[in-house]
Amino acid sequence: MGVVVQKYGGSSVATPDHLKRVARRVVETRQAGHAVVVVVSAMGDTTNQLLALAQSVSPNPQRRELDMLITTGERMSMALLSMAIQDLGYPAVSFTGSQSGIITTHNHSNARILRVTPVRIRAALDAGQIVIVAGFQGVSEQLEITSLGRGGSDTTAVALAAALEADYAEICSDVDGVYSADPRGVPDARRIDTLGYDEMQQLADAGAKVLNAEAVEWARRNGIEVRCVQTDGPREVGTRIKAGGGLPHARVVAVTAHPGLLMLGPDVPGAPAPADLEATLAAYGAADAEVWRVPGSWGARVPKQNLHGLAAFREALTRLGVRVREDLTLVTAVGRGLAGPPGLLGPAREALAEAGVATHGQLVDSGRLAFLVDAAHGPTATRALHAALIGGLDAP
Ligand code: ASP
Ligand code: MG
Repeated sequence: MGVVVQKYGGSSVATPDHLKRVARRVVETRQAGHAVVVVVSAMGDTTNQLLALAQSVSPNPQRRELDMLITTGERMSMALLSMAIQDLGYPAVSFTGSQSGIITTHNHSNARILRVTPVRIRAALDAGQIVIVAGFQGVSEQLEITSLGRGGSDTTAVALAAALEADYAEICSDVDGVYSADPRGVPDARRIDTLGYDEMQQLADAGAKVLNAEAVEWARRNGIEVRCVQTDGPREVGTRIKAGGGLPHARVVAVTAHPGLLMLGPDVPGAPAPADLEATLAAYGAADAEVWRVPGSWGARVPKQNLHGLAAFREALTRLGVRVREDLTLVTAVGRGLAGPPGLLGPAREALAEAGVATHGQLVDSGRLAFLVDAAHGPTATRALHAALIGGLDAP
């Protein structure tokens, strides 16, 4: 029996009724002849509630304890889903990340998966069980429980799919695929049928929430096909991310704005980056910051989502002579062949100017045209770039 890994996001497991519906969908997959491993997120808004609970006790919570707390959300989901599947008459067993053999770095609250040794999962599958795994967590070599950073259940699913040599990983959520922009902000955004790993990686790095960036890395390295589908929708409809799924010619495929960035730079122009910049970033959970140094200047982009003691982080940086800005965002058009002719940079810049959006910097390479704009202009800039670079084209 071929293995299929399915991941269900928070909104798909938000209530007992949702969990029962997911249980039926899992059983249908099993009935279709697959061995099934299911990865679950925490129910609905649970992770945010747990983080708020931590903040109400400590404004800069120790990240080890934070991980002990926030990994419980996914453990609730896994146990409940396993019960619901058993009630449908199928054998099921739930495992935590550590029981699943998910070994991570020691970087609490934003750990990376180092390797997966799914001994117990294999044994359970061999015994005919459906396996439910708590997403978003693992165990470090020091035997500490770690969390993988926001959106980390995607990574759990794809890393497991790789370790189990699964046929594919199905990411099930409340949207029926990857769109050319977030449809909530860009009404004429369109669903993309197939995407290559490169484009999906660029999109995830640029802040698109549909699929976690680290999950895409695992998929690309191991050639795992990822199918993004709607939990309650038809299985055939959605986006497939796979080898050879990339764009056949130069064009923009999607536009996204980063949901939350801190921009760091010298407080005094020309001042060098502090020697312990990277160490400070890592100490506060910002090891995934993008830091650059050029002669006479430096800067860093820090995604905010895995910083859980923001005020303390800001103070530490201020003491080091670092200026922290929160009023800028990065809007990125992702595609192929964007650096050279036919030259989409000109039309992109014109579209922003026409929409009244000033840019404070740009980052151009073959896979992306990215513009730094005032955060308040993020939605306008996204719509303008989408209309100018994708609006009239057929869906890829
Ligand atoms: N529950 C975690 C989060 O909200 C992990 C996940 O859902 O992927 O970020
Ligand atoms: Mg991470």
